[in-house]
Amino acid sequence: MQTNQLNVDPAELAKFGALAARWWDPNSEFKPLHEINPLRLNHIDQRVQLKDKRVIDVGCGGGILAESMAVRGANVTGIDLSEKPLSVAKLHLLESGQKVDYQLISAEDMAAAQPASFDCVTCMEMLEHVPNPQSTVRACADMVKPGGWVFFSTLNRNPKSFLFAIVGAEYILNLLPKGTHEYRRFITPSELSAMARKSGLSVTEFTGMTYNPLSKHYALGDDISVNYIVACRKPA
Ligand code: SAH
Repeated sequence: MQTNQLNVDPAELAKFGALAARWWDPNSEFKPLHEINPLRLNHIDQRVQLKDKRVIDVGCGGGILAESMAVRGANVTGIDLSEKPLSVAKLHLLESGQKVDYQLISAEDMAAAQPASFDCVTCMEMLEHVPNPQSTVRACADMVKPGGWVFFSTLNRNPKSFLFAIVGAEYILNLLPKGTHEYRRFITPSELSAMARKSGLSVTEFTGMTYNPLSKHYALGDDISVNYIVACRKPA
Protein backbone atom coordinates (compact mmCIF):
# COMPACT_ATOMS: atom_id res chain seq x y z
CA MET A 1 0.00 0.00 0.00
CA GLN A 2 1.44 3.35 -0.99
CA THR A 3 -0.44 5.69 1.32
CA ASN A 4 1.60 6.63 4.37
CA GLN A 5 -1.30 7.93 6.37
CA LEU A 6 -4.09 5.45 5.80
CA ASN A 7 -7.61 6.72 6.40
CA VAL A 8 -8.49 3.73 8.53
CA ASP A 9 -9.31 2.79 12.12
CA PRO A 10 -7.83 -0.68 12.80
CA ALA A 11 -10.36 -1.29 15.60
CA GLU A 12 -13.17 -0.84 13.08
CA LEU A 13 -11.60 -3.30 10.63
CA ALA A 14 -11.11 -5.79 13.47
CA LYS A 15 -14.83 -5.66 14.35
CA PHE A 16 -15.75 -6.80 10.85
CA GLY A 17 -12.87 -9.29 10.69
CA ALA A 18 -14.09 -11.02 13.85
CA LEU A 19 -17.60 -11.59 12.42
CA ALA A 20 -16.58 -12.30 8.83
CA ALA A 21 -17.21 -16.06 8.82
CA ARG A 22 -20.94 -15.40 9.29
CA TRP A 23 -21.19 -12.72 6.59
CA TRP A 24 -23.37 -14.75 4.24
CA ASP A 25 -25.57 -16.23 6.98
CA PRO A 26 -28.85 -14.34 6.50
CA ASN A 27 -29.70 -14.84 10.20
CA SER A 28 -26.39 -13.55 11.56
CA GLU A 29 -25.21 -10.09 12.63
CA PHE A 30 -25.35 -9.27 8.91
CA LYS A 31 -29.10 -9.91 8.66
CA PRO A 32 -29.83 -6.16 8.24
CA LEU A 33 -27.45 -5.97 5.26
CA HIS A 34 -29.08 -9.02 3.66
CA GLU A 35 -32.53 -7.54 4.16
CA ILE A 36 -31.77 -4.06 2.82
CA ASN A 37 -29.77 -5.42 -0.10
CA PRO A 38 -32.59 -6.04 -2.62
CA LEU A 39 -33.93 -2.54 -1.86
CA ARG A 40 -30.65 -0.72 -2.38
CA LEU A 41 -29.72 -2.91 -5.36
CA ASN A 42 -32.96 -2.01 -7.16
CA HIS A 43 -32.53 1.65 -6.22
CA ILE A 44 -29.08 1.69 -7.83
CA ASP A 45 -30.04 -0.44 -10.84
CA GLN A 46 -33.05 1.76 -11.64
CA ARG A 47 -30.76 4.80 -11.89
CA VAL A 48 -27.60 3.31 -13.37
CA GLN A 49 -28.85 0.36 -15.46
CA LEU A 50 -26.12 -1.88 -14.09
CA LYS A 51 -25.87 -4.31 -17.01
CA ASP A 52 -22.41 -4.05 -18.61
CA LYS A 53 -21.48 -1.03 -16.45
CA ARG A 54 -18.15 -0.81 -14.68
CA VAL A 55 -18.85 -0.51 -10.95
CA ILE A 56 -16.69 -0.31 -7.82
CA ASP A 57 -18.02 -1.10 -4.34
CA VAL A 58 -15.92 0.67 -1.69
CA GLY A 59 -15.89 -1.03 1.74
CA CYS A 60 -17.50 -4.09 0.14
CA GLY A 61 -16.97 -6.38 3.16
CA GLY A 62 -18.15 -9.92 2.43
CA GLY A 63 -19.60 -8.80 -0.89
CA ILE A 64 -23.38 -8.81 -0.40
CA LEU A 65 -23.95 -5.76 -2.61
CA ALA A 66 -20.93 -6.29 -4.90
CA GLU A 67 -21.98 -9.83 -5.85
CA SER A 68 -25.62 -8.84 -6.34
CA MET A 69 -24.55 -6.12 -8.79
CA ALA A 70 -22.54 -8.74 -10.69
CA VAL A 71 -25.71 -10.87 -10.88
CA ARG A 72 -27.37 -7.89 -12.59
CA GLY A 73 -24.65 -7.98 -15.24
CA ALA A 74 -22.26 -5.28 -14.00
CA ASN A 75 -18.51 -5.64 -14.20
CA VAL A 76 -17.77 -5.24 -10.48
CA THR A 77 -14.64 -4.46 -8.46
CA GLY A 78 -14.91 -4.69 -4.66
CA ILE A 79 -12.40 -3.09 -2.30
CA ASP A 80 -12.01 -3.18 1.48
CA LEU A 81 -9.14 -2.94 3.97
CA SER A 82 -10.24 -5.83 6.18
CA GLU A 83 -8.70 -9.11 5.02
CA LYS A 84 -11.16 -11.64 6.45
CA PRO A 85 -14.33 -10.20 4.91
CA LEU A 86 -12.53 -10.03 1.56
CA SER A 87 -11.51 -13.69 1.75
CA VAL A 88 -15.10 -14.59 2.63
CA ALA A 89 -16.24 -12.55 -0.38
CA LYS A 90 -13.81 -14.43 -2.65
CA LEU A 91 -14.86 -17.82 -1.26
CA HIS A 92 -18.51 -17.00 -1.87
CA LEU A 93 -17.78 -16.56 -5.58
CA LEU A 94 -16.86 -20.24 -5.71
CA GLU A 95 -20.33 -21.05 -4.44
CA SER A 96 -22.25 -18.57 -6.57
CA GLY A 97 -20.18 -18.83 -9.76
CA GLN A 98 -20.26 -15.03 -10.08
CA LYS A 99 -17.28 -12.87 -11.00
CA VAL A 100 -16.10 -9.92 -8.89
CA ASP A 101 -12.58 -8.48 -8.76
CA TYR A 102 -11.91 -8.20 -4.99
CA GLN A 103 -8.87 -6.21 -3.87
CA LEU A 104 -7.35 -5.18 -0.55
CA ILE A 105 -6.69 -1.52 -1.29
CA SER A 106 -7.83 1.81 0.15
CA ALA A 107 -10.29 4.01 -1.71
CA GLU A 108 -7.62 6.72 -1.85
CA ASP A 109 -5.02 4.42 -3.46
CA MET A 110 -7.58 3.04 -5.91
CA ALA A 111 -8.56 6.58 -6.90
CA ALA A 112 -4.91 7.41 -7.58
CA ALA A 113 -4.44 4.21 -9.62
CA GLN A 114 -7.74 4.33 -11.57
CA PRO A 115 -9.11 7.88 -11.75
CA ALA A 116 -12.34 8.52 -13.71
CA SER A 117 -12.64 4.80 -14.51
CA PHE A 118 -16.03 3.66 -13.20
CA ASP A 119 -19.60 4.30 -14.38
CA CYS A 120 -20.80 3.88 -10.81
CA VAL A 121 -19.23 3.94 -7.33
CA THR A 122 -21.10 2.54 -4.33
CA CYS A 123 -19.98 3.10 -0.74
CA MET A 124 -22.59 1.73 1.63
CA GLU A 125 -22.63 1.63 5.44
CA MET A 126 -18.91 2.38 5.47
CA LEU A 127 -18.37 6.15 5.93
CA GLU A 128 -19.45 5.93 9.59
CA HIS A 129 -16.48 3.63 10.23
CA VAL A 130 -13.65 5.76 8.78
CA PRO A 131 -11.68 8.51 10.56
CA ASN A 132 -11.84 10.92 7.62
CA PRO A 133 -15.03 10.44 5.59
CA GLN A 134 -14.29 13.53 3.46
CA SER A 135 -11.19 11.78 2.14
CA THR A 136 -13.24 8.68 1.23
CA VAL A 137 -15.93 10.79 -0.46
CA ARG A 138 -13.23 12.59 -2.46
CA ALA A 139 -11.69 9.25 -3.51
CA CYS A 140 -15.10 7.97 -4.66
CA ALA A 141 -15.65 11.17 -6.64
CA ASP A 142 -12.24 10.80 -8.25
CA MET A 143 -12.94 7.19 -9.31
CA VAL A 144 -16.18 7.92 -11.15
CA LYS A 145 -16.29 8.89 -14.83
CA PRO A 146 -17.81 12.25 -15.81
CA GLY A 147 -21.57 11.68 -16.02
CA GLY A 148 -21.32 8.68 -13.68
CA TRP A 149 -23.12 7.95 -10.40
CA VAL A 150 -21.89 7.74 -6.80
CA PHE A 151 -24.07 6.30 -4.02
CA PHE A 152 -23.31 6.63 -0.32
CA SER A 153 -25.35 5.29 2.56
CA THR A 154 -24.75 6.05 6.21
CA LEU A 155 -26.44 6.91 9.52
CA ASN A 156 -27.82 10.35 10.30
CA ARG A 157 -26.82 12.06 13.58
CA ASN A 158 -29.68 13.25 15.81
CA PRO A 159 -31.46 12.05 18.99
CA LYS A 160 -33.76 9.75 16.99
CA SER A 161 -30.89 8.05 15.15
CA PHE A 162 -29.12 7.53 18.51
CA LEU A 163 -32.29 5.93 19.87
CA PHE A 164 -33.03 3.76 16.81
CA ALA A 165 -29.59 2.88 15.41
CA ILE A 166 -27.77 2.37 18.71
CA VAL A 167 -30.20 1.85 21.61
CA GLY A 168 -32.85 0.08 19.52
CA ALA A 169 -30.73 -1.92 17.09
CA GLU A 170 -27.86 -2.85 19.44
CA TYR A 171 -29.44 -2.96 22.92
CA ILE A 172 -33.16 -3.69 22.55
CA LEU A 173 -33.74 -5.60 19.31
CA ASN A 174 -30.22 -7.13 19.15
CA LEU A 175 -30.15 -6.61 15.38
CA LEU A 176 -26.46 -5.65 15.58
CA PRO A 177 -23.66 -6.48 18.05
CA LYS A 178 -23.20 -3.89 20.82
CA GLY A 179 -20.52 -1.40 19.81
CA THR A 180 -21.11 -1.75 16.05
CA HIS A 181 -21.72 1.97 15.68
CA GLU A 182 -20.36 5.08 17.37
CA TYR A 183 -22.74 8.01 17.50
CA ARG A 184 -20.02 10.63 17.03
CA ARG A 185 -19.19 9.09 13.63
CA PHE A 186 -22.71 9.45 12.26
CA ILE A 187 -23.01 11.95 9.39
CA THR A 188 -25.92 14.31 8.73
CA PRO A 189 -27.28 14.67 5.18
CA SER A 190 -26.06 18.28 5.07
CA GLU A 191 -22.55 17.25 6.12
CA LEU A 192 -22.51 14.52 3.47
CA SER A 193 -23.84 16.93 0.83
CA ALA A 194 -21.07 19.38 1.67
CA MET A 195 -18.45 16.62 1.38
CA ALA A 196 -19.86 15.52 -1.99
CA ARG A 197 -20.00 19.06 -3.40
CA LYS A 198 -16.48 19.82 -2.17
CA SER A 199 -15.38 16.74 -4.12
CA GLY A 200 -16.98 17.93 -7.37
CA LEU A 201 -20.19 15.88 -7.21
CA SER A 202 -23.72 17.16 -7.53
CA VAL A 203 -26.18 15.70 -5.06
CA THR A 204 -29.33 14.52 -6.81
CA GLU A 205 -31.45 12.63 -4.30
CA PHE A 206 -31.79 11.56 -0.66
CA THR A 207 -33.66 8.35 0.14
CA GLY A 208 -34.44 7.06 3.62
CA MET A 209 -34.12 3.44 4.75
CA THR A 210 -36.44 2.57 7.59
CA TYR A 211 -37.03 -0.51 9.74
CA ASN A 212 -40.42 -1.36 11.16
CA PRO A 213 -39.82 -3.46 14.29
CA LEU A 214 -43.41 -4.75 14.31
CA SER A 215 -43.52 -6.05 10.74
CA LYS A 216 -39.71 -6.59 10.80
CA HIS A 217 -39.57 -5.09 7.33
CA TYR A 218 -37.19 -2.58 5.80
CA ALA A 219 -38.39 -0.02 3.29
CA LEU A 220 -37.08 2.89 1.24
CA GLY A 221 -38.90 6.20 1.48
CA ASP A 222 -38.77 9.86 2.51
CA ASP A 223 -37.71 9.39 6.14
CA ILE A 224 -33.97 10.11 6.19
CA SER A 225 -33.82 10.63 9.97
CA VAL A 226 -31.92 7.41 10.73
CA ASN A 227 -30.39 5.54 7.78
CA TYR A 228 -30.23 7.07 4.33
CA ILE A 229 -28.79 6.76 0.81
CA VAL A 230 -27.59 9.74 -1.18
CA ALA A 231 -27.29 9.58 -4.96
CA CYS A 232 -24.70 11.90 -6.54
CA ARG A 233 -23.47 12.51 -10.07
CA LYS A 234 -20.24 13.80 -11.50
CA PRO A 235 -21.06 16.52 -14.05
CA ALA A 236 -20.51 15.25 -17.62
N1 SAH B 1 -20.57 -2.08 2.19
C1 SAH B 1 -20.91 -3.39 2.67
C2 SAH B 1 -20.29 -3.68 4.04
C3 SAH B 1 -20.63 -2.71 5.14
S1 SAH B 1 -19.81 -3.10 6.67
C4 SAH B 1 -22.41 -3.54 2.68
O1 SAH B 1 -23.10 -2.53 2.87
O2 SAH B 1 -22.91 -4.64 2.51
C5 SAH B 1 -18.51 -1.88 6.66
C6 SAH B 1 -17.30 -2.32 5.84
O3 SAH B 1 -16.41 -1.20 5.77
C7 SAH B 1 -16.50 -3.47 6.47
O4 SAH B 1 -16.28 -4.45 5.51
C8 SAH B 1 -15.18 -2.81 6.87
O5 SAH B 1 -14.07 -3.67 6.78
C9 SAH B 1 -15.09 -1.69 5.85
N2 SAH B 1 -14.21 -0.60 6.25
C10 SAH B 1 -14.16 0.06 7.43
N3 SAH B 1 -13.21 1.01 7.40
C11 SAH B 1 -12.65 0.96 6.15
C12 SAH B 1 -11.63 1.69 5.50
N4 SAH B 1 -11.01 2.70 6.12
N5 SAH B 1 -11.32 1.37 4.22
C13 SAH B 1 -11.98 0.37 3.58
N6 SAH B 1 -12.95 -0.36 4.16
C14 SAH B 1 -13.28 -0.08 5.43
